[in-house]
Amino acid sequence: MSDTVYDLVILGGGSGGSALTKRAAGYGAKVAIIEKGEARDASGNRTGAGFGGTCVNVGCVPKKLMFLAACQRESLGPGGIAAGMGISIGAGSGAVDWAGLKQRRDAYVRGLTTGYESGWKKAGAEVIVGEASFEDRQTIRVKSPDGSSRQLKAKNICVAVGGVPAPLNVPGGELAINSDGFFDLEKQPKKVAVIGAGYIAVELAGIFHGLGSEAHLFFRGATVLRHGFVRRLFCWTAILETQHCCCTNFWVSCLLRFQPPA
Ligand SMILES: Cc1cc2nc3c(=O)[nH]c(=O)nc-3n(C[C@H](O)[C@H](O)[C@H](O)COP(=O)(O)OP(=O)(O)OC[C@H]3O[C@@H](n4cnc5c(N)ncnc54)[C@H](O)[C@@H]3O)c2cc1C
Repeated sequence: MSDTVYDLVILGGGSGGSALTKRAAGYGAKVAIIEKGEARDASGNRTGAGFGGTCVNVGCVPKKLMFLAACQRESLGPGGIAAGMGISIGAGSGAVDWAGLKQRRDAYVRGLTTGYESGWKKAGAEVIVGEASFEDRQTIRVKSPDGSSRQLKAKNICVAVGGVPAPLNVPGGELAINSDGFFDLEKQPKKVAVIGAGYIAVELAGIFHGLGSEAHLFFRGATVLRHGFVRRLFCWTAILETQHCCCTNFWVSCLLRFQPPA
């Protein structure tokens, strides 16, 4: 163990850990950030996201790229923006090269990931790759990917290790993929059942639909987006979607079927 005592050690290089690292190091604190890296268990389930965390690697960023792709395709469809603007669309337009889209999306994400690491270093933080665990209130052990381990002493420790998708606890649930699996898809499914009523399920169903898959959303409650999404969101969505912002057919059918929460 080195004699260094860090002002702050941060476990997890996602959105939370990353922002804290830059801010604390920027104020002159002696900071180390520990990120596990992209890791999966024996069953293939994600246990670590990599530099930038969930948002950058398997969350907001790749999702938004897929969403943009869906918007582009929708704009070309019947009643889409392109036709409305007098742009003629040839036969066969709207065919999706899913594998190519995935390849370019993943390359974009890789570029961002590298930027996270260099951003932390530039801010003056020490970047440590490995799995962190507690030895006591002020001591962290880091197990590196090569199997070696080291100890770090810190005055303050921040746990920002994020979360992973919950398994689907129904018979046959192991046959389903989760949002991580969505980003692994090499081929576009023709027909998809998306299970869930939260924003991730709703967005992924919309993306599938916008890219031309037949998408069905399955949920057990009365409507979608029940928790933390207010009535106003429904109104905004209605305004945006009726202006053909994205996945119009899917959303409009949602809005017609489901009443906003009281
Ligand atoms: C499909 C999807 C779409 C999303 N879209 C949006 C969106 O549009 N807008 C939005 O605001 N949010 C979105 N989110 C949510 C957003 O990604 C999370 O809220 C955010 O990433 C949480 O940040 P975090 O720092 O808490 O954790 P994470 O980003 O999960 O980072 C935690 C990090 O800790 C690491 N780690 C875990 N254990 C250890 C350990 N023992 N030692 C070292 N490192 C460890 C992990 O590898 C990971 O990189 C989306 C999420 C998903 C899954």
